[in-house]
Amino acid sequence: MSTDDNNKTVYVLEDTCSVSDVLPGRMYKGTVQGFAAFGTFVYLNANIKGLIHKTKALTIHKENKPIIVLVSNIRNNGNIDLEEVVLADYSLQPIHCKRRTVLLGDLKTKVGRRVVVECEIAQIKQTSGPTIFTLVDATGTENAAGFIEAGKRAFPEANQGDIVRITGEVMQRGGQVQIEIDTLKVLSQEEADEVKKRLDEALNERAEPVDIPFLIESEVLERLRPEIRKIARLIRRAVFTAQPILLRHHADADGVCSAVAIEQAVIGLINDSGGDYDSDYFLFKRSPSKAPFYEIEDVVRDLDYATRDNARFGQKMPMILLTDNGSTEEDIPSMRFARTYGMPIIVFDHHHPDEIVDQYLEAHVNPYHVDGDYGITAGMLGTEIARLIHPPVEEKIRHIPAIAGVGDRSEAPERYQYLELVKNEFDEETCKKIALAIDYLQFYLRFNDGRELVRDLLFLNDNNARSQQLMDLLVEEANLMIDEQMRTCFPHLERSVLPNGAHLIQIDVEIHAHKFTFPPPGKTSGEIHDRICKEYQGGAVVTLGYGPDFIVLRSKGVLMNIPQMVRELRDELPGAGVNGGGHLVVGSIKFVEGMRNEVLVNLVKKIAEFALESQ
Ligand code: MN
Repeated sequence: MSTDDNNKTVYVLEDTCSVSDVLPGRMYKGTVQGFAAFGTFVYLNANIKGLIHKTKALTIHKENKPIIVLVSNIRNNGNIDLEEVVLADYSLQPIHCKRRTVLLGDLKTKVGRRVVVECEIAQIKQTSGPTIFTLVDATGTENAAGFIEAGKRAFPEANQGDIVRITGEVMQRGGQVQIEIDTLKVLSQEEADEVKKRLDEALNERAEPVDIPFLIESEVLERLRPEIRKIARLIRRAVFTAQPILLRHHADADGVCSAVAIEQAVIGLINDSGGDYDSDYFLFKRSPSKAPFYEIEDVVRDLDYATRDNARFGQKMPMILLTDNGSTEEDIPSMRFARTYGMPIIVFDHHHPDEIVDQYLEAHVNPYHVDGDYGITAGMLGTEIARLIHPPVEEKIRHIPAIAGVGDRSEAPERYQYLELVKNEFDEETCKKIALAIDYLQFYLRFNDGRELVRDLLFLNDNNARSQQLMDLLVEEANLMIDEQMRTCFPHLERSVLPNGAHLIQIDVEIHAHKFTFPPPGKTSGEIHDRICKEYQGGAVVTLGYGPDFIVLRSKGVLMNIPQMVRELRDELPGAGVNGGGHLVVGSIKFVEGMRNEVLVNLVKKIAEFALESQ
């Protein structure tokens, strides 16, 4: 009983209190919860319940009405015996249970225990049973289940992005722990701000990548280090906050290599940081882009999926990563679409960048920003970023930059260092084969990522015999088709010498090459160019493969600037609808069919004005 009968104190337990905070002999304010044959159940707070035996009741009880009770006994099994008390005069005293909140990262050690967590709701998914809340704090991601009725949304007042305090019991479901929610409180602005700030600081600290040297020595990479670290940090943060990642990449060997390196790292990190068994499928998606930039067709598709997942599964809008793509003016319309839906965009690319894209980007790694060039390919950048995202991935992906380098015909010193690094397992010839096999496979995969097939080709699936077989088969087929294409094309090459001394090779690939087959026009022109370069050993060579409304450019030994030529042609030929770009010396130009001759004639004039590289 109360020690002072003249000043009767009735305690009020906050929701954070548990049975261990209840003291026998004290009076508490409760709420009538329901009835049994032998008495009345009373809630002392949202998760503590006791029983007034019918012999200890003094009044007629009504559901959800307040009631004052005395705790007469707490049994060993946790059951609480109550007696009803009727008081005319008393004072209320709230009990703050300063229960330490449990961190999600520690949840696995609390199975069977009742816990309090403070976290952000990253996702809300309604199942045919409970409502599943995906929770995020600074230490991890876990699920919590709320249930009122099968298929009905529990705690409808809570929304994605809210900061909440949840109490509940930690259960083991399959291999996963999960909180069965007793109470969920959306924190007030003031409380939420404080929790959010704490969460933010801790997340940033956790997302900070390790400090490790690059795989090779490279001054350009060193100068890119701060931005490379920034991208790694942003990606790690997205993983830790259950934000989906959508990776878009150029559909060639370099682009695929770059994207797969990141894929391996992100999936490794998701699995290591407590995601669901299949959350890598929901939280990471890799998609090739057919065009050498982020097309409207791509972004519309991406937005379609993202908004559906957002509406149906309560997922956050994704972060967009663009690799081997994304640094030119042509990407801007899509970036504006993405921004309308609040999707942050990150680019790592080695195409000559237009400054104007940077206003749409959270981060942008590009060797041209630090006096480097396309010789540091996207696959090299992607691999170094991947190592910072999830260091254990390194041993699986060490060979990827070498394949990317030969795939994109890099002549930078970095290419040779990456090759040197893995020469015992993957010599240059093998790297070339893998790159060709990827190009050939991707031609048929079109918009699909070919997830497992590409992993096989990159020897990532621990079945080297099958990888080797697949690679050999694809290389054999690809070479047969390339040889056939070259046999057909070569008699139609128009050869001339420009005033600056460069050899000019032109071919109409629309009428003098096989169409809709491998190799496509870009690669066909590239193959012709490579063979001609061998023929004119040491000489400067420009190869133009053109169709009705496009020209593919390959060059060697000429100090060209394709993006600049494209801008000039666009200004000088207003009715030609010229656009395009690419690297300084390799690229493509599009225009309207009726202006092809004007574009070709003017382009050739411009090429003839560039100086040759000194031998
Ligand atoms: Mn590339």
